[in-house]
Amino acid sequence: MPIVQHMDIFPIHVPVSSSLRSINFYLVQSGQSLILIDAGYNNDDCRKALVDTLKQNEFALKDLTHIILTHHHIDHAGLVNCLTAEHPIPVYAHPLSFPRLKRASVFLQMRIQFFQELYETMGCGQQGKKQIEHLKKTMKENESQKITAELVEVGENFGDHFEVLEVPGHAPDQIALYDRKQERLFAGDLLISHISSNALVEPDENGKRIPSLLIHIDSLKKCLSLSLEQVYSGHGKVIQQPKELIQKRLDGIEKKAERFLTLIKGGKRTANDIAETYYKDVYDQQFPLVMSEVIGHLDYLEQREKIQKEKVHGIWRYTSS
Ligand SMILES: [Zn+2]
Repeated sequence: MPIVQHMDIFPIHVPVSSSLRSINFYLVQSGQSLILIDAGYNNDDCRKALVDTLKQNEFALKDLTHIILTHHHIDHAGLVNCLTAEHPIPVYAHPLSFPRLKRASVFLQMRIQFFQELYETMGCGQQGKKQIEHLKKTMKENESQKITAELVEVGENFGDHFEVLEVPGHAPDQIALYDRKQERLFAGDLLISHISSNALVEPDENGKRIPSLLIHIDSLKKCLSLSLEQVYSGHGKVIQQPKELIQKRLDGIEKKAERFLTLIKGGKRTANDIAETYYKDVYDQQFPLVMSEVIGHLDYLEQREKIQKEKVHGIWRYTSS
């Protein structure tokens, strides 16, 4: 266990109009280090918020010693390129972040192939095809967003500042940084005060589907077992005494799974049928999120032996046990 330094936290909360409410990242001073945990979006609001927070606390950009990313998502890694171009410091992340942050083309091609097969086998038809076209387009458009900084693999401890915990589910590469002494956790998007986190369906490095919701549940349970006073999230408010909220999120998964089970018992057979029936307009608006939700909860019901699946003409059909 590391000898934990005294730490000062300077939160950077950038308000946004979406349901996320804010994009959060954190400056942490610990001993001689000034660590940036996550790096917001690559936009003026996030850049200004960081510069202002540095200035207000009598720091400058050149005082930053490390950047750590809780996961690879674009609203957590946005400023990395512009910060490290001006002030080259190492960027620490989980190894599973690397192909995603570097936008490795072999990996991205495989990922598109993965979603194509996934949506076909889940019965998504036209909507699935539309999403694949969108993925192909954004793969080209986002080429310029690849992280150019030197990436360093995080270990079990981050110096004598934090213990590093793997908390995959929302993203396969998600980590949380635990300050055991002061019972604080920087948890990325594992736990958000005002909304449940999406356990996004993703392939592993071999193109096999990761059971995102099942591992998200394990990550939440891992947090329940820690002594925790505060959780510093990627969005929304800092969470005080988080155990009740973690339990609420776990109960929420159980409840949603029960609703999907009722739909299956009522004759809905494919993930796509369940998604369209349950989410209505949101199905079109947020197709990839909705499919992740449905597929994740079907995994959960399968694991609990409440349903089984069978492939008929290339499409998974679910029935209650
Ligand atoms: Zn995220």
